Amino acid sequence: MKFSFQFKEYSPKTEEVYGTILTLGNGYIGIRGEIELEPTIYGTTVLGIYDYTPYFYREIVNAPRVIGLGMMFNGEPLNLSTHKLLKYEKELDIGEGSLKTWIELETNRGARISYESLRIVHGKRKNVAVLKFKFKTDKKGLLTLINPIDVDVANPSYRPEILVRHCYAEELDFGEGFIYAGVKTIDKKYTLGIASSLVTDEKASRSVVKSANGIAEVLSIEVEANRVYEFVKYVVISSERAPALKDKTLKELGELKKLGFDKLFVDHRKYWSEIWKKAKVEIDGDKGAEKGLNFSLFHLIQSLPRDSNISLTARGTHGFGYRGHVFWDTEIYALPFFIAVFPEDAKRMLIYRYRNLEAAKKNAKLNGYEGAQFPWESADDGYEATPSLVPLDMAGKEVVRIYTGEEEHHITADIAYTVDFYYKFTNDEDFMAKYGLEIIFETTRFWASRVEFDEKKGYVIKKVIGPDEYHEHVDNNFFTNLMAKHNLLLGVTYYKRALNKGGSWKETVDRVGVREEEVQKWSEISEKIYLPPQVDGVFEEFDGYFDLEDYTVDPHDIGEARLPEEIRKKIGKTKLIKQADVIATQYLLKDQFDIETIKKNFDYYIVRTTHASSLSMPAYSIVASWLGYEDLAYEYFMKCAYIELKNLYGNTHDGFHLATAGGVWQVLFRGFCGIDIEENSIKIAPRLPSKWKAVKFGFSFRGIWLEIKITPKEVAVRSAGGKEAIRLNIVGEELFLGPNEQIVASL
Ligand code: BGC
Ligand code: BGC
Repeated sequence: MKFSFQFKEYSPKTEEVYGTILTLGNGYIGIRGEIELEPTIYGTTVLGIYDYTPYFYREIVNAPRVIGLGMMFNGEPLNLSTHKLLKYEKELDIGEGSLKTWIELETNRGARISYESLRIVHGKRKNVAVLKFKFKTDKKGLLTLINPIDVDVANPSYRPEILVRHCYAEELDFGEGFIYAGVKTIDKKYTLGIASSLVTDEKASRSVVKSANGIAEVLSIEVEANRVYEFVKYVVISSERAPALKDKTLKELGELKKLGFDKLFVDHRKYWSEIWKKAKVEIDGDKGAEKGLNFSLFHLIQSLPRDSNISLTARGTHGFGYRGHVFWDTEIYALPFFIAVFPEDAKRMLIYRYRNLEAAKKNAKLNGYEGAQFPWESADDGYEATPSLVPLDMAGKEVVRIYTGEEEHHITADIAYTVDFYYKFTNDEDFMAKYGLEIIFETTRFWASRVEFDEKKGYVIKKVIGPDEYHEHVDNNFFTNLMAKHNLLLGVTYYKRALNKGGSWKETVDRVGVREEEVQKWSEISEKIYLPPQVDGVFEEFDGYFDLEDYTVDPHDIGEARLPEEIRKKIGKTKLIKQADVIATQYLLKDQFDIETIKKNFDYYIVRTTHASSLSMPAYSIVASWLGYEDLAYEYFMKCAYIELKNLYGNTHDGFHLATAGGVWQVLFRGFCGIDIEENSIKIAPRLPSKWKAVKFGFSFRGIWLEIKITPKEVAVRSAGGKEAIRLNIVGEELFLGPNEQIVASL
């Protein structure tokens, strides 16, 4: 699974886009794909390392650049931008998690240079990145290599020209075969130990330079003409709080050098081959779809944190878009893939929410509510991290007021929804007892205090922003009201289950202090929560939506740029919506709607949706597939699968749209393959795109690994391991799949 790119020239703008596309990460370190030989503002991201920043509260830190490499030949610096570039090619191999680069250039003094590198961010050793490279020239001379730990890094802020520095070097040290930087965040909350070493078998002289930019080791070698010289650069980054951080970092560096590149690479490839055994999706008859989908999964997998200090962020380790904050993108769009394929990893991300439950409770209290209110944007401490103001100019004179942090409350119900989804898939009772039930009860408490009673309408939810962020301060947003109702029902259901089950579940009920009268109230509210009315079968997105000015758009286009200026200016006064809202609800709460109603709503809203958010198309694609709108479903699926490779939204340089990446998998799973989990059974009703001859993938259901192959004629499901039989319902036919058994059902 290789992706090759040829560049005609070196352009910093293009480089930034490929910086995201070619990012390598391992759930701890993220290194963007910019070439090591050129300067860039992008350093390294270390998952979970945040620092205070004006306007945005806390943001992921642009940590020291560790992958950079300086090269000089006979005193001439070898930059791509200043010499004649004869070849510049890159290849991302998602099968083995590597990035290869080939360069040929002619220096101003006429020497021809070939350079080739291979980069990995190690899968099994979370603290490690390695760069192996080869150098060759047609003239003999002096090669100088500079291996820096560049601490002169800062984050781009509300304008790219404004840079916010988040770390400083506390210690710069070097010794036999290492350079080291001890780096602290400005708020002193985190310390990073960074060590590096450039190794070669050739005879080289070594010196070390310290400067305001950091520390670098310099190797000088007399090279002969037309001979290949090989080098390996090892990097270790650690962030443990232990006082022995430096020792630990240097110790690992020593181990790496002893092992050597080849052994490390074998281990790294093993890691990825294990991952792909589970994650890979094969699509016979449509290699384009297969490539785009697996590419999305590769970037999703690289971005999932290794511990629960932080969760998956909106733009991954790939960039600074949305400041490394965690949104509903994680639970609703990205986690279903992990829940189905890597449930243990998904669990950690839900534990991240649990760890921040106290912060969510404080947040609720601060806003006058009970229970737990999760922040719209979350960082490392779980407090609300949404900016309330963003400056539009350098001086910060003109600002936009952002209301999402104050009003986009559906996030709380989205988290509860996914806790339940996780349990349905895994049956993980221990997780529920320790974390899940408490999240569900506390979020239910929030909604019970968030609703207001209206004599005519029942329980209403006023002044919110739904997924459609064009309309602010609205009452009774369809998505919010229905997801809140669902949350309240989960509270009631899980309370009853806990009483029935007893044991640790009942203990949680007691620990959280859930009372019978409280649950009766939850039940009453959920029954009487106001549901926006239907006109000709179409649900009103919020109170008063149907009175707004109508405007329709072409569903095959995306974004706001196509709208006339006057419409753009008053967008909130029109019926245009930013992204799936009623349709996202119908996707998530499918059972509550009949197919005719879904169709009426789809037909109505699809021509009023701009898809200005990348979260929109996945939801529409799934529902389009249910409705038999095959062309549209497929068109959206492909757009989403190639969102970065085609820079569809023009902001790929800000990081990977991970919600969309997770959404693409959901289109496959819930849309094209029509898989639903219903109590104790798996329902499969496929509607494959007509050019697909077969699709094959795996997922885990209640601890049993299932491999599924769907063709236009049949569905075959095979189970690996497990003790119990699984009830399958393949388009109406009831079947039982025993342990280690295969079932083939005709369609
Ligand atoms: C997004 C909001 C977000 C805000 C501030 C907007 O572009 O649509 O969801 O809260 O930026 O980060
Ligand atoms: C979308 C939100 C999303 C956020 C982060 C915004 O543009 O409207 O739904 O959570 O981006 O991806």
